[in-house]
Amino acid sequence: MDKDIIWSNILDRIKNELNDLAYKTWFEGTSLYSIENGVAKIILLTSAAIKHITLHYKDLLNKCIFEETGINYELELLTIDDIQEEEPVVEEIKPDENKREEYHISSNLSKKYTFENFVVGNSNRFAQAAALAVAEDPGKIYNPLFIYGNSGLGKTHLMHAIGNYIVEHSNKKVLYITSEQFVTDFVSMNRKDDSGTNFDYVDFFKQKYRNIDVLIIDDIQFLGGATETQKEFFHTFNTLYDSNKQIIISSDSSPDDLKRLEDRLKTRFGWGLAVDIFPPDLELRKAILKKKIVGEDINQLIPEDVIEYMASMINGDIRNLEGALTRLVAYSATWGKDIDLNLAQEALTSYVNKGMISEKNDVARIQSIVAKHFQISVDDLRSKKRSSNVAFPRQIAMYLCRKLTDESFPKIGSEFGGKDHSTVMHSCDKIEKEMKKNKELARTIDNIEQEIH
Ligand code: ADP
Ligand code: MG
Repeated sequence: MDKDIIWSNILDRIKNELNDLAYKTWFEGTSLYSIENGVAKIILLTSAAIKHITLHYKDLLNKCIFEETGINYELELLTIDDIQEEEPVVEEIKPDENKREEYHISSNLSKKYTFENFVVGNSNRFAQAAALAVAEDPGKIYNPLFIYGNSGLGKTHLMHAIGNYIVEHSNKKVLYITSEQFVTDFVSMNRKDDSGTNFDYVDFFKQKYRNIDVLIIDDIQFLGGATETQKEFFHTFNTLYDSNKQIIISSDSSPDDLKRLEDRLKTRFGWGLAVDIFPPDLELRKAILKKKIVGEDINQLIPEDVIEYMASMINGDIRNLEGALTRLVAYSATWGKDIDLNLAQEALTSYVNKGMISEKNDVARIQSIVAKHFQISVDDLRSKKRSSNVAFPRQIAMYLCRKLTDESFPKIGSEFGGKDHSTVMHSCDKIEKEMKKNKELARTIDNIEQEIH
């Protein structure tokens, strides 16, 4: 069947379910770009439409496509600008009436997040182990599993990894949603009467949430203060929990610290296991960068000192680390230069200026304490001056930075007015040796160190 005909039939079904205004605004003028290998690519008019449809009409769209084709397609929503020049291939669609699939709700899982590409370190070891235990035995050990921590530390990644693992190893039905999506679903269910649609949202909502085996709900802090939504979530939670279905929740804070959440929900979240993820240390940041370099097929050699530099400049949010890597690769391609430390410094300066690096700069604190001690200025420390009254304190400051922070040699060098990493290494060596010979110096440095702590 021609894809345009299929699409026009699907649109007819959507039209039946929606009021005129909604249909005209979001669906009129759309087209089917391709439908093959289990994926339906749909062209919408604007990126705002992609966002809106994803949030409000994805289920409806899934359902109508299924009803027309008998196949559960994964949806890809695009604008015309996203389409490359390749010609779409159209697969012959023959719904087999005897072998009709059962309609299932899209799991919303992203295949790119797996346990295999999740790098484990001290800061996330516990969370990863709990996640894997749940994935291997859903509904049995930790229920609910509550994962919390700051933004960009891998909560969403871990949750998708659990979902993907379960889907791969069992035929359990998994649903991943953000709490924003939950609220939207709930609100549309209650708007049924005045929206003029025929789509039975109440039934759909109940079916969607209560018939699954694993519910993954991301960023629960956005569930909102609306008590009605919380009430519905409470019922959903209870229904699933009572039938030993696995529930996995993430949040930016621990259950106790969730300010807008009803007490009875907090209590329930405490029934299972709550694990937190901490910001990655330098080693883990380096390991993640290396994994990304392999995983993203970056066919360029990225020297160890560049990895060290990036990992030490950017901490906290792992998204920023990924952003820095993308930026560096793009920069090197634009200028046609191989990646080395100089290029990395150049490429990432604006990143650094935008405040992407940690706000708590221990290096700066150490510099100011050392400068004060020797009665010189921080600018002197960062200058190129070689007179011994400046050079010696500078070496001490470098040594202390290396000892007391987890910053790399290149990063420390850059904080001292762009000194080379070998200069920093040399300074550290020298001070260490001197301290062994000179007890007076050892005591002085010890005093400064006390002040820093
Ligand atoms: P959160 O949900 O906690 O805000 P995400 O799960 O979205 O964080 O992670 C942000 C990015 O960092 C994602 O691209 C994710 O793949 C990546 N990431 C986080 N932790 C790790 C890890 N341990 N190994 C590999 N990638 C990670
Ligand atoms: Mg997240």
